[in-house]
Amino acid sequence: MDRARGAYLGLAAGDALGATVEFMTPREIESRHGRHADIVGGGWLRLKRGRVTDDTEMSLALGHAILESGGVVDAEAAARAFSDWMRTKPVDIGHTVRRGIVRFRTQGVVEGPVHAFEAGNGAAMRVLPVALATLGGDPAEIARAIRAQAHVTHNNPLSDAGCDCIVAMVQDALGNGTPPAGLLDHARDLTARFPEFAWAGRPRDNPSGFIVETLQAVFQAMETGGDAGAILVEVVNRGGDADTTGAIAGMIVGASAGVAGLPVRWLRRLDRSVVRACAAQAEALVALSPAGVLSDPAVAGGRSIAGRPRRLSGFRQVQGPTTSTS
Ligand SMILES: [Mg+2]
Repeated sequence: MDRARGAYLGLAAGDALGATVEFMTPREIESRHGRHADIVGGGWLRLKRGRVTDDTEMSLALGHAILESGGVVDAEAAARAFSDWMRTKPVDIGHTVRRGIVRFRTQGVVEGPVHAFEAGNGAAMRVLPVALATLGGDPAEIARAIRAQAHVTHNNPLSDAGCDCIVAMVQDALGNGTPPAGLLDHARDLTARFPEFAWAGRPRDNPSGFIVETLQAVFQAMETGGDAGAILVEVVNRGGDADTTGAIAGMIVGASAGVAGLPVRWLRRLDRSVVRACAAQAEALVALSPAGVLSDPAVAGGRSIAGRPRRLSGFRQVQGPTTSTS
């Protein structure tokens, strides 16, 4: 549970940290901020200090929909949650995300055809609630759940493979406390199937929203061997799509380190309502997951009398998405 909260708070912290330097080059970041290592707001979105962006907000919207469905990841519920979120006039929204939501609104489509231009990082940045809700689950169901939410806006094999890798890393970290360097085994599995993700060589500076560049920057930062805070500082100082590299690296290293492994000064700066929503969702999603249900002492032998996994109550109390202005 602590590592699950760490994953969600790591996502929010990385998002808020990176948003300040989104679309900047490493050189521009250095001349303006030195080494950017604090949550200070600003950036091209002129954010209030501690505010998060679409990465965290869409995760909370998706997580809320999963909880309302009793722990099941349903494409239509996800699409409706994204549509409701867009109605809140978010501070930022990606082009591919907007197009997918509009397609759902106008045509009811929750899965478009495979599309070469949908290899952005928009499905990966919000995949954390799926990792939490399917923890300990059957691999085929995990893969289905990942695609159900992703394909609402992004139907592309590279995006799918990236999401699979992130979920594998997060779940390995949640279950085993594997350190970031050890989690890179999952990245090696990814590059065995999709060699374009290989991350050795020159630093991936200015990573774009292309899932390949985004994950290369994340993998390189994880390879530095630093602690969770150092890895997030490293990845956002590469600039580019820094809020999303920060968010994705944050959910992975937060899952590994737990809440106590994240810099306290970041957690203090984060918007209070975001902190509450992230922590509450993390707990509720894991409680409903196969791992959470089986470890519940109230479930004799991991099964209810009827022989079916028992659902835990109480998730309805969790509100989301909640941010300071949306
Ligand atoms: Mg963002």
